[in-house]
Amino acid sequence: MSGDRRQEEYEERLQSFTGRELRPRTPGQDPVNQPMIRHWAEAMGDTDPVYTDAGAARATGRDGVVAPASMVQAWTMRGYAATVGPRGGEDGFDALVALLDEGGYTSVVATDSEFTFLRELVPGDRVAVSESVESISAQKRTGLGPGRFVTTVKTYTDADGETVATQRWRTLRFRPAKTGETPAPALRPRPAVNRDNAFFFEGAKHHRLLIQRCTGCALLRHPPGPCCPACGSLEWDTAEAGGRGEVYSFVVSHHPKHPAFDTPYLVAVVALAEGTRLITNLTGVAPEDVTIGMPVVLDWLDADPDLTLPVFRPAATEAP
Ligand SMILES: [Zn+2]
Repeated sequence: MSGDRRQEEYEERLQSFTGRELRPRTPGQDPVNQPMIRHWAEAMGDTDPVYTDAGAARATGRDGVVAPASMVQAWTMRGYAATVGPRGGEDGFDALVALLDEGGYTSVVATDSEFTFLRELVPGDRVAVSESVESISAQKRTGLGPGRFVTTVKTYTDADGETVATQRWRTLRFRPAKTGETPAPALRPRPAVNRDNAFFFEGAKHHRLLIQRCTGCALLRHPPGPCCPACGSLEWDTAEAGGRGEVYSFVVSHHPKHPAFDTPYLVAVVALAEGTRLITNLTGVAPEDVTIGMPVVLDWLDADPDLTLPVFRPAATEAP
């Protein structure tokens, strides 16, 4: 088969997906319900009372509370456990992705989502979703690499099969551009340095752990700020910490993952012998071996040429 013929055949197979149903009508796990609505409204900071107060909703001419329109997708989302297991009933979707992979379009980025809402959902509604392919574009040159825009339409229906909303969902499936270069090592996020805390990071570059000190009343304070909380003085200098302290509190961070960090890692509040506390990382100790009150000593992490940070290790493993 010639290259052109092969290309033609691939195009035909790809375009055969146009109009095809990728996901048959799949019901959501729970009916529309007040607790989920309340949590959503709270998380979104949406204080419109029509979502939570039946009286307020009736005053607008509604029969009672309604669900926020943009929640429609939430009613049909599968839980985390369902998404890591085998996906039932999505053979069409898997087949399309496999065909795109075959064409080298192995990477994906969502580009836009366009909803049309036909009626408001109310508690007790049972929402289902189906998804069909609307179009697959010819190959386009994009900033990410050559790719194809794949547009699907999700149709949300109620228990009677009436459409309550549609969602046009477009993704770019692309061939990642080859740079041929070794990627630069990931850097830690930069601290927000300002006039109040610049001394701290400058001191760190010289492996000196500095604490802000009020020159009015000698109170030590951290994190740095412009004003003494005890006497109100704006005058301050610094004191150098001796580097001894204890673990006041800590968490083991697994997520979000960041390329500059090896997860899991330890984030601790260390109480310094001088009395102030600081947020830092613990090194040289496994998460299961950390205890509250554990004595720790200062160490230095020269993360990159522009960033040095104080970290702490257990006093028992202090370098001789
Ligand atoms: Zn003071």
